[in-house]
Formats: sequence, C-alpha cells, structure tokens
Amino acid sequence: MTELKGALIGCGFFAINQMHAWNDVRGAGIVAICDRDPERLKIVGDQFGIDRRYGDAEALFADGGFDFVDIATTVQSHRFLVEMAARNKVPAICQKPFAKTLSDAKAMVEACRNAGIPLMVHENFRWQTPIQAVRKALDADAIGTPFWGRFSFRSAYDVFSGQPYLAEGERFIIEDLGIHTLDIARYILGDVRSLTARTKRVNPRIKGEDVATILLDHENGATSVVDVSYATRLSREPFPETLIELDGSEGTIRLTQGYGLEVTNARGTTTTDVSPKLLSWASRPWHNIQESVYAIQQHWVDQLERGAEHSTSGADNLKTFALVEAAYDSAARGQTIDVGAML
Ligand code: NAD
Repeated sequence: MTELKGALIGCGFFAINQMHAWNDVRGAGIVAICDRDPERLKIVGDQFGIDRRYGDAEALFADGGFDFVDIATTVQSHRFLVEMAARNKVPAICQKPFAKTLSDAKAMVEACRNAGIPLMVHENFRWQTPIQAVRKALDADAIGTPFWGRFSFRSAYDVFSGQPYLAEGERFIIEDLGIHTLDIARYILGDVRSLTARTKRVNPRIKGEDVATILLDHENGATSVVDVSYATRLSREPFPETLIELDGSEGTIRLTQGYGLEVTNARGTTTTDVSPKLLSWASRPWHNIQESVYAIQQHWVDQLERGAEHSTSGADNLKTFALVEAAYDSAARGQTIDVGAML
C-alpha cells in the first residue's frame, strides 16, 4: 500500500494525540507541520522528528507535497484553513467545533464539495470503544426498538489547566463537550427533529455555561436527554466517560461508569467490560479519547482508499453542529427549536 502523506496545521495541546495516532495509523504519515507559534512548531517537530516546518499555512500549501491536511487549530481559523485546502484541492480533516456558526459550516462543506475533495470533521467520540459497543448491541437487536435514551457527561475535572481558552469564551460546555455528546445521541438514536435546552454557569471563574440539559425529539420517534456538566463533584470522578441509558421495546442497555456494558432482555442480563485499550503513548484517564483519535484517523485513511464517505463527513457534521446552535438558541429564548428547518 502507498503511504499517504499528511500535513498537520496547529501543533497545540490536542495535536500531540493526533501526531502519536498518525504514527500508529496504517497507510499514512505526517511529512510537514505548521503552527504560527514557533515554540509549538519546535516542540512538536522535535518530538516527532518532522523537518518540514512552516509558520504560515499559505507557504505550506505553496510547497505542497502532501495528500491531505489535518487541521488541529482552534475554531477561529477553521473556515479560513478548510477553504484554503479546498482552493488547493487537498482533502481535509478539521477538528471540532467545525466552525463558529452553522452558516460558516455550510459554506465549508460547499467549498469542499465544489472542489471535489473529501472533508471529515475530527468528531472522535463516536469512535470510542464503549460507544461502538453500544452501537453494536443495538445493531444486534439486543433490545428491540429503542424509544428512550440518556447520554450523560457529568464531571468536575479541571479542563481549564490544559485548555485555558475554554474559560474565556462566551460559550463553553455545549460548544466544546456537548457537541460530542449530541453527536453520540445522533449516532445511537438517529437524527433530531426538535430540541429544547436549559443552561447554567456554576463556576464563577469562567465566562460561558458549564451545565446544560437538552431534550431531543429524534426523527424515529425516540426521545433522549443529553446532560453535560463540569460543575458536578462525585465520589468517583468519571472524566472523560460518557454514560448511556437506553430503553427499548425488548430490553435495556446501560453503559456504566468504569466501562461496563449491561444488556437486559428476555434472556436475562449480561455485563461486559468494554474498556478502551491503553495505547503505548496514552495516559489515563485520557486513554478513552486517545484511542478514539487513532480510530477516527485510521477510518480517514481506510475510507480514502475505498473512495467512500466518512462517518463524520462535513455534511454529516452539519446535523450535529445544528444541534449546538439550536441548544444555545433554545436556552436563550426558552423555546423548542425546529432543527430540520435549520439545515
Ligand atoms: P491549542 O490552542 O493548544 O492549539 C492550537 C494551535 O493552533 C496553537 O499552537 C496555535 O498557535 C495554532 N494555530 C491557530 N491558528 C493557526 C493558524 N491560522 N495557522 C497555524 N497555526 C495556528 O488548542 P487545542 O486545545 O489543541 O485545541 C485545538 C482544537 O482541538 C480545538 O478546536 C479543540 O476544540 C479541539 N479539541 C478536540 C478534542 C477532541 O477530543 N476531539 C479534545 C481537545 C481539543
């Protein structure tokens, strides 16, 4: 197999995981990196032995010599860089949140469609081993037709030390974390017709909301609750686990803290350990997320080889991104939002 050559833009906190994962992925490797901060460029270039280093994305694209670009910058630059990739006809991966607004996200999907290049959003949470295990149990018809779900992420983990910018934005938990939880809800129970949300800020040292409760009406008639909090102190800190409850016509699924998958149906209850692997470069408790970074990047390469659509393509991610916008809108206006009308 010919190894695909990638370029990574944005050598910050999370890109370290992406660089480690690229080392493990079959069929691709990173040949050039770019960051406007020379210190980050040096740290990542030295750590991963990458000689081609750029302080400016235009110069990176002008030199070329790569088959895809992995954009790992924060949201402010996503539209600019994805459109640059489209102009240069280079397939692109873009970190979440995909864009600042839904209209930007739509324009980015359109630009890549017109350029004829694949675009995948690095929406990795659905690739976590425990989430995949829930999907497989549903696909195996373990609980019949699901009619109710809860997707829950409640924690008091200090995310601000690693990502200080999270304390500074007007928006916080829905845009940064809830976006993943909403994507999982879509992945498990399907697309969403309408949504109602309530938010709160409990931590006085941050600007945005750190608690959100979101009620989803799925197109297939199921109802679910997405509840996320970074203001919840528990006896056992669950970070970064998403806990899931599903009720179906023939049984129930519970994804419990500590990565237990409990399936109850007419045959009784089975409990399986669905813990993520601890990859050689990973560290607890992040290993669940780190393994999903490897999984989504391998998926990128596999689908490029097959010429097939990515699970979290730009077009797919518009439907998750709309839920984020709808949640803020609903919380601000105290109203239920018609999600279909936004797309
Ligand atoms: P960061 O601030 O640590 O890193 C971003 C880097 O991008 C910085 O080094 C910055 O200098 C560089 N940069 C910004 N604009 C640039 C431009 N135009 N050209 C070149 N370099 C540029 O941020 P981070 O915490 O690593 O987060 C990056 C993205 O990853 C965010 O969108 C965040 O939401 C996302 N993230 C995703 C996950 C996940 O599980 N998928 C987890 C954490 C963070």
